[in-house]
Amino acid sequence: MLNTLKNRFEQGYKTTDYPKTDIQLVDRYRGRPEITQDAPDDIVKMCASECPQDAIDAEKKTIDLGRCVFCGGCERLSDGKFVTFTTDFGTGTSIREHLFTDGNLPALADHSKKHFKKLFGRSLQLRQVSAAGCNACEADLNVLATPFFDLGRFGINFVASPRHADGIVVTGPISRNMKTALLQTFEAIPDPKVVIAVGSCAISGGPFRGSPEITEGLDSLIPVDLYIPGCPSHPLTNLHALLNYFK
Ligand code: SF4
Ligand code: SF4
Repeated sequence: MLNTLKNRFEQGYKTTDYPKTDIQLVDRYRGRPEITQDAPDDIVKMCASECPQDAIDAEKKTIDLGRCVFCGGCERLSDGKFVTFTTDFGTGTSIREHLFTDGNLPALADHSKKHFKKLFGRSLQLRQVSAAGCNACEADLNVLATPFFDLGRFGINFVASPRHADGIVVTGPISRNMKTALLQTFEAIPDPKVVIAVGSCAISGGPFRGSPEITEGLDSLIPVDLYIPGCPSHPLTNLHALLNYFK
């Protein structure tokens, strides 16, 4: 017992002050892209043709963050003349079309659904379903329960039973084999409920896009309330989206 108290005293308080104070991520982190609209057409077309996710629209000069896996290829290829990635991790959105970005993203709070805030404002219980994810998105959700992020202090928790949940958080490209389990879990959650798609797999199929074994987008199965892009989405992206949408 004494050792535990001594250890606690030595370790101090480890939980981040976020969102009361900002967090600056390291420069190499790739968050919201900045897009130069007057970039030369040949560079834009080269980036679009080399993008492994077919996420760049060369005509509109936009990136679909729901498809992008943040590999940084377009930034490297264009030498920053077309795309540069910022450390802005607040990329969650409640409207899929907003992920087709020209570098700007509307503030999530402006588009959050007020009735969800009213319903779940002080307590939100979520059931997570990994529908064939690679475990990176899942790991970056799990880490929210650690002392640094301490998701529980906001009244948000992950629960084991869908019967105890207010919503479902889906990761992975939703393989054929996981589809039924996912839909049954969704049905088991009492109304009203929220649906959150985390990671490019759940939003669009991600790196598995085009495979007959997966579903290209959770919203083709059930209505999605919150989209959180990334591959995987950073824990702070998840936290930012959850707090701005529900709090
Ligand atoms: S960072 Fe995104 S948009 Fe750029 S090449 Fe990679 S997947 Fe494509
Ligand atoms: S979006 Fe990327 S990190 Fe997340 S499950 Fe798919 S492949 Fe893995």
